[in-house]
Amino acid sequence: NRAVAISARNALSVLNTRQVRSGSSAARCSNASRLSRSVWRLEMSIGARFTKAVCPNAATYQVGCADCRRWPNSMWRNSPLRQVSVCLKIRPILCGPPHATKESSMNLHEYQSKRLFAEYGITVPKGIPAKSPNAAVDAAKELGGDLWVVKAQVHAGGRGKAGGVKLARTRDEVHQYAEEMLGRKLVTHQSGPDGLPVSVVYVESGSDIDRELYLSMLVDREVSRVAFIASAAGGMDIEQVAAETPEKIFTVSIAPDAGLQDYQARQLAFGLQLDKTQMRQFGALIKRMYQLYVECDASLVEVNPLIVTKGGDVVALDAKINIDGNALYRQPR
Ligand code: ADP
Ligand code: MG
Repeated sequence: NRAVAISARNALSVLNTRQVRSGSSAARCSNASRLSRSVWRLEMSIGARFTKAVCPNAATYQVGCADCRRWPNSMWRNSPLRQVSVCLKIRPILCGPPHATKESSMNLHEYQSKRLFAEYGITVPKGIPAKSPNAAVDAAKELGGDLWVVKAQVHAGGRGKAGGVKLARTRDEVHQYAEEMLGRKLVTHQSGPDGLPVSVVYVESGSDIDRELYLSMLVDREVSRVAFIASAAGGMDIEQVAAETPEKIFTVSIAPDAGLQDYQARQLAFGLQLDKTQMRQFGALIKRMYQLYVECDASLVEVNPLIVTKGGDVVALDAKINIDGNALYRQPR
C-alpha cells in the first residue's frame, strides 16, 4: 500500500496516539507536505477494520472508527488486532486555493541551492562563495583551471544580462569582477528598479556549454500535483518563451502515490532531445531532484540553464530553490 501525503512520522503525530505503531506500510508513506493547504482524507485500516476521516488541515482533524466514530481508545484497547501493522493513507481530497500560501517561502541563493543539489548527487560545477575580491581570487586558486565565472548572489534572475554573471579568464579578472559586484546593487528585470545588494559572489569553474535547457519543478495547483516543466529553449527568459512559443514548453505531472516513473523521465528527456547517455544522466538527475523537492519541502526548484556540456554531460548550471514557508518548522537547517 503506497500512501502519499505527509511523512509517516508526521502522519503518526497527526494521529497523536502512542498506541499506533508505525507498521511497514506507514513507514512507506511519503512526504508531500506541499499539499499542506489541502483538505485531507485520512484513511486508516487495522486489519480488516477501516476508519475514515476528513481533516480540515494537517494540524487539527477528526478521526473516528467507521462504525463507532471513536478512535482510537475504545477500538484499540478492545481490539485483538493491536499487533497488526497500521496502514495509513492520507490523501488530499480537495485542493487548496490556486495561489501561493500566505506564509512566505524561504528563497535560497544559487550557491546554497547548488550545495543542496550536490548533497543529493545532482551534478553542478565546482564553486566557492566569496565575500571579498581577495576571497574570490583565493576561491579561483582553489578551484584551479583557467576559466571561472563570477556570479552575484541575489534573489533575482536575469543576472547574466544585467552584468551579474561574468566570465573571467585570469585571476585578475576574477578580482576585478568581484570588486565591481560586491557592495553594489544589481538591477535585473526581476529585482525591481532599486536593485538588490550584492554581499556574496559565487566563483565557479567555467563550463563548456553545448546546449542550454530549462527544467523546473513546482506544485501544479490545477491538478494538485508536483510537476516538472521543461524546455529545450533554456538559458533565456522562460516567461518570454512561454509567451511567444508556448509549444516549446512541456509539463509532466507526478502522481504522488506512484512517484516519478521511468516513462515520465523518458518523456522529459525526449522533449529535451537528449541522446541515450545524456538520457541516463538526466533520468538520475530528475529522480534526485524529485527526492530533494519532497524531502526539503521545496515549493520551487528551477534550473535555468540545465546544460549539456561539450563532453556530453548534463549539468545544473544555475539553481534556484524556494522552500515552502509552511514547512520551515521541520526544516531546521
Ligand atoms: P541568471 O539566470 O541570473 O542570468 P545564470 O546562472 O543562468 O544566471 O547565468 C547566465 C548565463 O551565464 C548562463 O545562461 C550561461 O550561459 C552562463 N554561465 C553561468 N554559469 C556558468 C558557468 N559555470 N560556466 C559557463 N557559463 C556559465
Ligand atoms: Mg539562470
